[in-house]
Amino acid sequence: MCGIIGYIGSEKASPILLKGMINLEYRGYDSAGMAVLSSKGIECRKGAGKIEEINKRLNFLDLDGNIGIAHNRWATHGGVNDINAHPHFDCTKTIAIVHNGIIENYKELREALSDHKFESETDSEIIAHLIEEELKRGLSFEEAFINAISQLEGSYAVLAIKAGEEKILAARKGSPLVVGIADHGIFLSSDIPSFLEWTKKVVYLHDYDVVIADKSGIRIYNLIEGEVSRPVDTVEWDAEQIKKGGFEHYMLKEILEQTETIQRAIQQDESIVNRIVDEIKKAYGIFFVGCGSSYHACLTGSYLFSKIAKTHVNVVLASEFENYEHFLTENTLVFAVSQSGETADVLEAVRAAKRHGSKVIGIVNRMGSSLTRESDEFLLMNAGPEICVLSTKTYTSQVALMTLLAYALAGKYED
Ligand code: GLU
Repeated sequence: MCGIIGYIGSEKASPILLKGMINLEYRGYDSAGMAVLSSKGIECRKGAGKIEEINKRLNFLDLDGNIGIAHNRWATHGGVNDINAHPHFDCTKTIAIVHNGIIENYKELREALSDHKFESETDSEIIAHLIEEELKRGLSFEEAFINAISQLEGSYAVLAIKAGEEKILAARKGSPLVVGIADHGIFLSSDIPSFLEWTKKVVYLHDYDVVIADKSGIRIYNLIEGEVSRPVDTVEWDAEQIKKGGFEHYMLKEILEQTETIQRAIQQDESIVNRIVDEIKKAYGIFFVGCGSSYHACLTGSYLFSKIAKTHVNVVLASEFENYEHFLTENTLVFAVSQSGETADVLEAVRAAKRHGSKVIGIVNRMGSSLTRESDEFLLMNAGPEICVLSTKTYTSQVALMTLLAYALAGKYED
């Protein structure tokens, strides 16, 4: 998890970024930092610990400028300390990056740049140095960024800024990143709640998308497809829904929302449910695949399918799915279950199923997520934003949907 957020627009960036970082806190983190671009160049503040404490110590709001990037780190490579906190810079200190994910080939890439001076132990810092190296060849910032990103293996959501360039460059593969479009500027963030109080207009990015955001708008270039355009959607959630609303914890709030969310989960378009039931009847071999709480919903679902519809379902933890790949054929039906629709192991399972020509049905909460795009058909949980990391209302929505499917399969949809 962890999170990144960038802002470019007419407002001062640091208060917006600080609020965005706080809004992303629910994803978990151990360090945080911010870099803001102004006519003076790039200024950065970062450290290990809680955002509130770091802010007291370093005062993020001192940073002036309308363009900035920020990061909540959850360390994967290198200890939790001030130096390893993001943003990271190149040798010239004119390029700053933030990164979520894991760069698997960072060691080889670092070895190839042996004349560069690295300050942190992170895998992420390599990105700033790769851009620097490409710039030395006389390329533009955009070209250098694209060439640098193309060398990365692993998962990434990356934001980059450069002194003297009024833009933010962004890219994603295997880690979430969405664009928010407000009247006063553009957001690039791991998750919608971070900017929901400024805008509900979002552009969902696909893997390998590179975004060039400047004060006039965004352009998207896909590393495989070239120049692409992505639709602007309006999210139905509002800023109120992501507030604690007087509750001590999000978990408590979300538990109490279940009387409504379970109702909403089963209010589905009957024609989609019927299409899925037809697929289940045609299938030779059905898998329910998920991680964590979604996996537990799958276990309950297999019981419900057996008990209510006398139908056998195989339940597999998404991270183990590759061990079952040899069972997949064109007649297999795979249900992929994920709240966010971005769970990496679930998406890997979906891609494995597609490789074998199997049909994929998504059960997902987030419209516009990778799972909604990559499934052949999907049912939305309609649970609204689940901010608490521990699943409550989306778990019960998943079970409610599986109950609905089991009854529909048994010919008792009206029950
Ligand atoms: N792998 C990077 C690091 O350890 C990024 C971790 C994250 O996603 O926060 O710094």
